[in-house]
Amino acid sequence: MSQCYLLLGTNIGDKKQNLLQARESIIERIGEIINPSAIYQTSAWGKEDQDDFLNQVLAVETTLNPERLLAMCLDIEKDLGRVRFEHWGERLIDIDILYYEDQVITSQRLTLPHPEIQNRKFTLVPLVELAPNYIHPKLNQTNKDLLAHCTDPLEVVKID
Ligand code: AMP
Repeated sequence: MSQCYLLLGTNIGDKKQNLLQARESIIERIGEIINPSAIYQTSAWGKEDQDDFLNQVLAVETTLNPERLLAMCLDIEKDLGRVRFEHWGERLIDIDILYYEDQVITSQRLTLPHPEIQNRKFTLVPLVELAPNYIHPKLNQTNKDLLAHCTDPLEVVKID
């Protein structure tokens, strides 16, 4: 059994419902959610044509290896987009793999840890809620320290 951290993001339609459906698909097809963060809202500052985002980080236990996990995340994104809102397609929900154990992978399809973790408050704030002292295996800093040094100006607000 391996532990991974997944980031959910959505800014279209009934966003809480999109997160709920994504969590249900993850339980069915990836593994047990051992720790979900609160849901956070991020304003899409500077992108006035876009609605606010909701984000949530999940700690998940899975028997899938990283490549299979990525394939499953992409399948879930595709299926939820297709089933619920055909015209919005794959953009309905985004699922990123933030960490998979302490693995460092750079391949054409998959980069682990996710390359943008340290640059995005909407990722770091929920991650720090779940795992403040977890050490990023490439940057050798805790999530808490990465957040303290993050210069992302976007405001992240807990909504539940
Ligand atoms: P995006 O829609 O911007 O999240 O990009 C999705 C693509 O990024 C996927 O097709 C993956 O092949 C690639 N990718 C690389 N590393 C990761 C990761 N850690 N988590 C999710 N997708 C990744």
